[in-house]
Amino acid sequence: MAEHDEHDEDDIEGQVRDEELDPEREARRRIALAQIRQYPDAALKLQARPVAEFGDDLRSLVERMKLLMHDANGIGLAATQVGVLQRLFVFQPSEDEVLAVVNPEIVERSEETEVADEGCLSIQGITVPVERSLEVTIVGQDENGADVRYELAGYGARCAQHETDHLDGVLMLDRTTPEARREALGVLRPRIVLS
Ligand SMILES: [Zn+2]
Repeated sequence: MAEHDEHDEDDIEGQVRDEELDPEREARRRIALAQIRQYPDAALKLQARPVAEFGDDLRSLVERMKLLMHDANGIGLAATQVGVLQRLFVFQPSEDEVLAVVNPEIVERSEETEVADEGCLSIQGITVPVERSLEVTIVGQDENGADVRYELAGYGARCAQHETDHLDGVLMLDRTTPEARREALGVLRPRIVLS
Protein backbone atom coordinates (compact mmCIF):
# COMPACT_ATOMS: atom_id res chain seq x y z
CA MET A 1 0.00 0.00 0.00
CA ALA A 2 3.05 2.26 0.18
CA GLU A 3 2.21 3.87 -3.13
CA HIS A 4 -0.96 5.29 -1.67
CA ASP A 5 0.43 6.97 1.39
CA GLU A 6 0.64 10.46 0.01
CA HIS A 7 -2.87 10.99 -1.22
CA ASP A 8 -5.31 13.16 0.63
CA GLU A 9 -9.07 13.04 0.59
CA ASP A 10 -9.33 15.64 -2.18
CA ASP A 11 -7.82 13.18 -4.65
CA ILE A 12 -10.53 10.59 -4.15
CA GLU A 13 -13.53 10.64 -6.47
CA GLY A 14 -16.14 8.00 -5.68
CA GLN A 15 -14.20 4.78 -6.16
CA VAL A 16 -11.24 6.21 -8.06
CA ARG A 17 -8.07 7.97 -7.00
CA ASP A 18 -7.03 10.88 -9.17
CA GLU A 19 -3.25 10.94 -9.20
CA GLU A 20 -0.27 10.59 -11.49
CA LEU A 21 1.36 7.13 -11.51
CA ASP A 22 4.85 6.09 -12.44
CA PRO A 23 5.08 4.03 -15.68
CA GLU A 24 5.22 0.67 -13.92
CA ARG A 25 2.17 1.41 -11.76
CA GLU A 26 0.39 2.82 -14.81
CA ALA A 27 1.03 -0.45 -16.68
CA ARG A 28 -0.36 -2.46 -13.75
CA ARG A 29 -3.38 -0.16 -13.62
CA ARG A 30 -4.14 -0.80 -17.29
CA ILE A 31 -3.83 -4.57 -16.87
CA ALA A 32 -6.19 -4.46 -13.88
CA LEU A 33 -8.72 -2.28 -15.71
CA ALA A 34 -8.77 -4.77 -18.57
CA GLN A 35 -10.13 -7.30 -16.06
CA ILE A 36 -12.84 -4.96 -14.80
CA ARG A 37 -16.11 -4.79 -16.75
CA GLN A 38 -16.41 -1.49 -18.59
CA TYR A 39 -19.54 0.50 -19.34
CA PRO A 40 -21.87 -0.44 -21.08
CA ASP A 41 -21.15 -4.10 -20.16
CA ALA A 42 -24.47 -5.80 -19.36
CA ALA A 43 -23.20 -7.21 -16.04
CA LEU A 44 -23.09 -3.67 -14.65
CA LYS A 45 -26.87 -3.39 -14.93
CA LEU A 46 -27.69 -6.68 -13.18
CA GLN A 47 -28.82 -7.30 -9.64
CA ALA A 48 -26.40 -9.45 -7.60
CA ARG A 49 -27.65 -12.37 -5.50
CA PRO A 50 -27.10 -12.82 -1.74
CA VAL A 51 -24.05 -14.86 -0.77
CA ALA A 52 -25.00 -18.03 1.12
CA GLU A 53 -21.71 -19.95 1.16
CA PHE A 54 -18.57 -18.73 2.87
CA GLY A 55 -15.82 -20.97 1.59
CA ASP A 56 -12.46 -20.89 -0.13
CA ASP A 57 -14.03 -19.77 -3.41
CA LEU A 58 -15.42 -16.65 -1.76
CA ARG A 59 -12.15 -15.90 0.02
CA SER A 60 -10.13 -16.19 -3.19
CA LEU A 61 -12.63 -13.96 -4.99
CA VAL A 62 -12.15 -11.36 -2.23
CA GLU A 63 -8.34 -11.62 -2.51
CA ARG A 64 -8.52 -11.21 -6.28
CA MET A 65 -10.82 -8.21 -5.99
CA LYS A 66 -8.57 -6.54 -3.39
CA LEU A 67 -5.58 -6.96 -5.68
CA LEU A 68 -7.46 -5.64 -8.72
CA MET A 69 -8.74 -2.66 -6.73
CA HIS A 70 -5.24 -1.85 -5.58
CA ASP A 71 -3.67 -2.25 -9.01
CA ALA A 72 -6.47 -0.25 -10.66
CA ASN A 73 -5.77 2.53 -8.14
CA GLY A 74 -9.30 2.41 -6.80
CA ILE A 75 -10.71 2.52 -3.29
CA GLY A 76 -13.73 0.31 -3.97
CA LEU A 77 -14.73 -2.56 -6.24
CA ALA A 78 -18.00 -4.48 -6.38
CA ALA A 79 -18.30 -8.11 -7.52
CA THR A 80 -20.59 -7.17 -10.43
CA GLN A 81 -17.68 -5.16 -11.83
CA VAL A 82 -15.74 -8.39 -12.30
CA GLY A 83 -18.78 -10.16 -13.72
CA VAL A 84 -19.65 -12.03 -10.52
CA LEU A 85 -23.30 -11.58 -9.55
CA GLN A 86 -22.85 -12.00 -5.81
CA ARG A 87 -23.51 -9.38 -3.18
CA LEU A 88 -20.08 -8.33 -1.99
CA PHE A 89 -17.62 -5.51 -2.42
CA VAL A 90 -14.16 -4.57 -1.23
CA PHE A 91 -13.22 -1.06 -0.22
CA GLN A 92 -10.64 1.04 1.55
CA PRO A 93 -12.50 3.28 4.00
CA SER A 94 -9.22 4.57 5.45
CA GLU A 95 -5.57 4.51 4.47
CA ASP A 96 -4.61 1.37 6.39
CA GLU A 97 -7.81 -0.68 6.07
CA VAL A 98 -8.93 -2.79 3.12
CA LEU A 99 -12.19 -4.56 3.90
CA ALA A 100 -14.64 -6.91 2.24
CA VAL A 101 -18.35 -6.55 2.97
CA VAL A 102 -20.55 -9.49 2.01
CA ASN A 103 -24.34 -9.05 1.79
CA PRO A 104 -23.98 -5.34 2.62
CA GLU A 105 -26.97 -3.43 3.81
CA ILE A 106 -27.08 0.25 4.63
CA VAL A 107 -29.13 0.36 7.82
CA GLU A 108 -28.70 4.01 8.73
CA ARG A 109 -27.93 7.10 6.71
CA SER A 110 -27.56 10.71 7.75
CA GLU A 111 -30.14 13.14 6.51
CA GLU A 112 -27.30 15.50 5.76
CA THR A 113 -26.05 14.98 2.22
CA GLU A 114 -23.27 16.33 0.05
CA VAL A 115 -22.83 16.60 -3.70
CA ALA A 116 -19.33 15.64 -4.88
CA ASP A 117 -17.73 14.36 -8.07
CA GLU A 118 -17.48 10.58 -8.34
CA GLY A 119 -15.47 8.35 -10.61
CA CYS A 120 -15.92 4.65 -11.31
CA LEU A 121 -13.46 1.94 -12.29
CA SER A 122 -16.05 0.74 -14.84
CA ILE A 123 -16.57 4.18 -16.39
CA GLN A 124 -13.11 5.42 -17.20
CA GLY A 125 -12.20 9.06 -17.46
CA ILE A 126 -15.58 10.43 -16.38
CA THR A 127 -16.61 12.08 -13.16
CA VAL A 128 -20.15 13.17 -12.36
CA PRO A 129 -21.64 14.94 -9.34
CA VAL A 130 -23.59 12.62 -7.06
CA GLU A 131 -25.53 13.49 -3.92
CA ARG A 132 -24.82 11.04 -1.07
CA SER A 133 -25.47 10.86 2.64
CA LEU A 134 -22.50 12.17 4.62
CA GLU A 135 -22.62 9.28 7.08
CA VAL A 136 -23.89 5.72 6.77
CA THR A 137 -23.93 2.59 8.89
CA ILE A 138 -23.46 -0.59 6.93
CA VAL A 139 -23.93 -4.14 8.17
CA GLY A 140 -23.07 -7.46 6.55
CA GLN A 141 -20.48 -10.19 6.91
CA ASP A 142 -16.76 -10.42 6.28
CA GLU A 143 -15.30 -13.01 3.90
CA ASN A 144 -15.36 -15.61 6.71
CA GLY A 145 -19.03 -15.11 7.49
CA ALA A 146 -18.57 -13.10 10.70
CA ASP A 147 -21.04 -10.26 11.22
CA VAL A 148 -19.63 -6.79 10.65
CA ARG A 149 -20.98 -3.30 11.23
CA TYR A 150 -19.21 -0.16 10.06
CA GLU A 151 -20.09 3.43 10.86
CA LEU A 152 -18.65 5.41 8.00
CA ALA A 153 -18.16 9.08 7.20
CA GLY A 154 -16.43 11.05 4.46
CA TYR A 155 -15.12 9.20 1.43
CA GLY A 156 -15.67 5.81 3.12
CA ALA A 157 -19.39 6.55 3.39
CA ARG A 158 -19.57 7.78 -0.21
CA CYS A 159 -17.69 4.73 -1.46
CA ALA A 160 -19.91 2.27 0.47
CA GLN A 161 -23.00 3.87 -1.11
CA HIS A 162 -21.43 3.72 -4.58
CA GLU A 163 -20.49 0.01 -4.15
CA THR A 164 -23.86 -1.00 -2.70
CA ASP A 165 -25.49 0.64 -5.73
CA HIS A 166 -23.32 -1.52 -8.02
CA LEU A 167 -24.82 -4.66 -6.46
CA ASP A 168 -28.27 -3.42 -7.51
CA GLY A 169 -27.15 -2.59 -11.04
CA VAL A 170 -27.23 1.14 -10.28
CA LEU A 171 -24.43 3.31 -11.66
CA MET A 172 -23.35 6.84 -10.75
CA LEU A 173 -24.79 7.86 -14.15
CA ASP A 174 -28.21 6.90 -12.77
CA ARG A 175 -27.65 9.09 -9.69
CA THR A 176 -26.33 12.28 -11.25
CA THR A 177 -28.13 15.29 -12.69
CA PRO A 178 -29.74 15.02 -16.16
CA GLU A 179 -27.24 17.58 -17.46
CA ALA A 180 -24.17 15.75 -16.14
CA ARG A 181 -25.56 12.45 -17.41
CA ARG A 182 -26.08 13.88 -20.88
CA GLU A 183 -22.58 15.31 -20.89
CA ALA A 184 -21.03 12.03 -19.68
CA LEU A 185 -22.91 9.99 -22.27
CA GLY A 186 -21.74 12.44 -24.90
CA VAL A 187 -18.18 11.45 -24.02
CA LEU A 188 -18.88 7.73 -23.55
CA ARG A 189 -21.02 6.99 -26.62
CA PRO A 190 -18.55 8.05 -29.34
CA ARG A 191 -15.87 6.11 -27.48
CA ILE A 192 -18.00 2.93 -27.58
CA VAL A 193 -18.59 3.30 -31.32
CA LEU A 194 -14.89 3.78 -31.98
CA SER A 195 -13.60 0.93 -29.83
ZN1 LIG B 1 -18.24 2.17 -9.72
